[in-house]
Amino acid sequence: MRACVHRIVLLLLLLTSLSAAAEAPIALVLHGGTGGKRAELTAEREKDARATLERALKTGYALLRKGRSSLDAVEAAIMVLEDARVFNAGRGSVLNADGAVEMDASIMDGATRQAGAVGSVKTVRNPIRLARLVMTKTPHVFLISDGAEALARQHGLRFESPEWFITPAQQMRLQQAKEKHGTVGAVALDKNGHLAAGTSTGGLVNKLHGRIGDSPIIGAGTYAEDGVCAVSCTGQGEFFIRNVVAYDVAARMKHGNSDLVTATCALIHNQLPAQGGRGGLIALDAQGNISAPFNTESMFRAWITADGKAHVAIFEP
Ligand code: ASP
Repeated sequence: MRACVHRIVLLLLLLTSLSAAAEAPIALVLHGGTGGKRAELTAEREKDARATLERALKTGYALLRKGRSSLDAVEAAIMVLEDARVFNAGRGSVLNADGAVEMDASIMDGATRQAGAVGSVKTVRNPIRLARLVMTKTPHVFLISDGAEALARQHGLRFESPEWFITPAQQMRLQQAKEKHGTVGAVALDKNGHLAAGTSTGGLVNKLHGRIGDSPIIGAGTYAEDGVCAVSCTGQGEFFIRNVVAYDVAARMKHGNSDLVTATCALIHNQLPAQGGRGGLIALDAQGNISAPFNTESMFRAWITADGKAHVAIFEP
């Protein structure tokens, strides 16, 4: 009898692993920007950042589990991060030199290579949603400022007053004109093998009014292409624009036969630092492999793959 039970258990285990093996991989990776030095991170901010990343991860992953698209997962996860004050996107965005918030965001569908982006929006609560609307509801890729906000109004998106986005922590940072990152991003692979990427940010603290960084620029801060990779970048945007980083990861893979880790590390650990560029990125390939290199002291990041186990990390292991 015991041997029989044993055999049934073995058979069940075999069947479970066979069905798991047959299941298409799903994955979701997030970043909350390259952060500052370990000594400057308060216990309170660390706790808040970790909990928020976990919440965003669970929100996006639940959608992937239900069979929803990688685009839906990317958008939903980024909305959670935008609504939290702890990251430099949506509420809690950094202030420009005039003390105002100007937000940028973009999203890209690897299946169709459609993309949408917004720049310099000031009162739209979730710029990532607006970026998706630009993609799906207009023939354009990139809308800025008042034009972008008009589209948001047309589609009933939520608005907040300019003051709502401003947190005391960011007012203090502007006064100190300290480097502040904390942009957010997400890349996802759904069960149909589709990749998507999105990025949302308040940009760089003390930036000139009207400055746009890499985050809303397709190919620089965000890129997704089915069968290749999905990438979301964070760091000093000017370097990511000049090096067309997100697309260069894909180009190295497509044309140079590079694997994901080699391609991303060449950019983040060699090419960018050689020019003085600081930052990092998160990336996923078509098989669900993950890479998240950074050349700063820290990068807030979180990932979850088919086993459903959530991981959050900030510094090098
Ligand atoms: N890359 C963003 C920008 O330059 C900032 C960041 O990632 O922290 O606007």
